[in-house]
Formats: sequence, structure tokens, C-alpha cells
Amino acid sequence: MRVKGKRFLLSLMIFGVILATACGKKTPEHLEVEVYPTADYWVSMELGDTLFPTKEALEGLAEQYLADAADLLHMENWWVEVNPNATKLQLDIQIGGSAQSFTFAPAVKAGEDSISGGILLSSSIAERGSKDAALAHELTHLMGFMSGNSFSMSLTEGLCDYVQSEIGHYPYGTLDIQEINAYMLRIDFENATVREMEEAVMEKVGAAETGYPYGQGPEMSFWYTMSHSFVRYLIDEHGIDKVKKLILQGESEESYNEILGKSYEQLKEEWVEELLTMEVTITEQDILDSIEK
Ligand SMILES: [Zn+2]
Repeated sequence: MRVKGKRFLLSLMIFGVILATACGKKTPEHLEVEVYPTADYWVSMELGDTLFPTKEALEGLAEQYLADAADLLHMENWWVEVNPNATKLQLDIQIGGSAQSFTFAPAVKAGEDSISGGILLSSSIAERGSKDAALAHELTHLMGFMSGNSFSMSLTEGLCDYVQSEIGHYPYGTLDIQEINAYMLRIDFENATVREMEEAVMEKVGAAETGYPYGQGPEMSFWYTMSHSFVRYLIDEHGIDKVKKLILQGESEESYNEILGKSYEQLKEEWVEELLTMEVTITEQDILDSIEK
């Protein structure tokens, strides 16, 4: 017994040492961000009124967004599959030259202790000033939600917009985003022409489609808004972990049933039903008042 007891103590000590070593080597919870701009935008553009009046402010903001997104999505140490030893993200940044922001280079291993990725922020970023939240959206793409990583582009974009509205700069003050969507949808549905356009777009929300169904215009903007609304509904009902699994591991519209336990058609029906019947107390004036000028 005494020998056994000693051995037990010894193994406890060894376990303690292993544990301490493991803790010491633990991957960091946050990545340090180094921004590599294509040009000195802080000289060539008016960025003083944006959320990043200096390059250092942009680095700090990106670090914060990545940490907040990792928290929200339960994706601590999300870079481990790219480079388990990474402590830094080298972020290539372009500003301007495009009407829309996008992530042009996925997160890849760049060095012993770093990964790299690239984001283009649209030229309207300076005009939108402090209202712009595209950075949070684009960084979410970088965390593994690149186009092509899912059977549904609508779910991918919806998730990035979800993260953007949760952790980025939210333009509607304290108003509830789903209530705004419900309000807008009901107003729109009273107009036959708009309703026809919107119902066609709704068909594509959450669908198995790996490309963008629309280039620009009201259809595209409505597709983004409704994709966000659908993803938000799925997260509210089924939790972030299952929805994340659906986006990253789902293979077709059948996967809704396999992962969430309800068919794609049923989930869509329930979501639209919720938008059309939820109690809406906000008014058009509330929405106009809430939008920061
Ligand atoms: Zn996007």
C-alpha cells in the first residue's frame, strides 16, 4: 500500500509537471495584428473621422474584433489549423478602388510564428466614416469563413454580417436588428412589385449555392440583409455551435435536417413566419432617428 501510495504521489507530481509545461506552452488567446498597407492611406486619404485614424488604431481595432469574434463564435485559437505556433497576424490592407469590401487572401502560414491574410476595404469607407463596420465582417471571413468553404454563400455572408452587427459598429443604436428586418419586410410586402422581387430573393436565402446570386443593386443588398436575418434566427433557435457546424461541414440543404433536426423548408417557413408575426413596436421615425449621421 505504501509503495502504491508513493507511486500515486509520484504520478501526481509528474502529471503536475506536464500540466505546468502544457500551460506554459498554451497558444495565446489573442493574435497580435501587424498591418501592411499597400500605400500610406493615412496620408493620401481622409481617415481622421473613421474608426482608425492611424495605422496603430487599425491594428488595435483588428485585434479587438478578432478577439471578440472568436468569443462570439466559440473559436478560441481559430488560427491553430493554419499555424499552431502563430502569435501574429500580418494583415495586408488595401483601401479604395472597389465599391465593396472583401477578403482577398485567406489566412495562410506566413512564418514560424505568424499567419497572413488580406483585406480590401472599399473606397466608401472614408465617406461612411465612423459608421463603417466592414472590418469586423471581413475579419470573420479570414477566420475560416472564406467563400468556397461552405455549401451556402448565403449562410457564409449571413454569418459575417451577424458578427459585424454583434461586435462591430452597429448603426441602429439600441434598436433590435430582427425587429427592424420584420418592420422593413412587412412594409415592403404591402407593395406588390417589391414583394415579387423580395420573394424571389428569399428563395435564395440559406440555399445550397456557392456563388453570389447577385452582382449589385437592391436584390444584392436585400439578399445580404435577409441572409443575416436567417442566420440570426438559426443561431437564436439552435445555438452558434450547430450553426457553425452547418456552415463549415454541411454539404447540401439536407444538412439542415442532419445538423439542426429540421428541414431547410421548415426552418425557412418558421423564420418568415416569425418576421411576419413578431411584435413590432418601432416606427420608421425610430429607425431614421437611430441611424447615426
Ligand atoms: Zn462578406
